[in-house]
Amino acid sequence: MFFIIFGTRGVTSTKEQGEFNCPSCGPMNYRLKVVRRFFTLYFIPLIPLDSLGRYVECAQCQGTFNENVLSYQPSDAGQQMQALFMIAMKQVMIGMLLADGVIDDAEVKELQDIFEELAGVEVTEEDLREEIDIVERDGSSCLEMVSKAAPHLNDSGKEKVIRAAYRIAMADGVFDESESEFLSDLSAAMDLSAAHLRGIMTELME
Ligand SMILES: [Zn+2]
Repeated sequence: MFFIIFGTRGVTSTKEQGEFNCPSCGPMNYRLKVVRRFFTLYFIPLIPLDSLGRYVECAQCQGTFNENVLSYQPSDAGQQMQALFMIAMKQVMIGMLLADGVIDDAEVKELQDIFEELAGVEVTEEDLREEIDIVERDGSSCLEMVSKAAPHLNDSGKEKVIRAAYRIAMADGVFDESESEFLSDLSAAMDLSAAHLRGIMTELME
């Protein structure tokens, strides 16, 4: 008497290999692995069944990644971050501009100048006023945007945001309570400690 022993088993094979930008190691060799379920007879894989998945493995760190990693370009990531940072920065400045309830011409001009200084691109007064209108009408989502950008910002990036917001607040010559509150909320959204904010403020007020 004998038994026919059959079953299924995942078999991993290398489908292709090449060079990629490993998020941990930089430029490195990779293997694209495919895991396929096989029908086995006496533990020998005989018939390929469905695919269980594909992943990319780094030859250096053995890290495994989603296939999308193959199109990952570090410079793209940097540029995207820069774009997100600038959008968040503009929203923050608009939020600060609206904090005291008055759209002051000096504040609008200052916002234009700071944005141009930081982003290296001009924003027309017309476009800017339109954006201000939208934020005023729909309520500001700038703190939400900032908390999204914050994990990608280092301390000096966060300080830049605080400084820009402060400059807007001071454009009309007064730093009032609503503006001070906005600055506290802003720094909390970026996970900046109260002590850190106090340090920046002391420096700014000198
Ligand atoms: Zn690696």
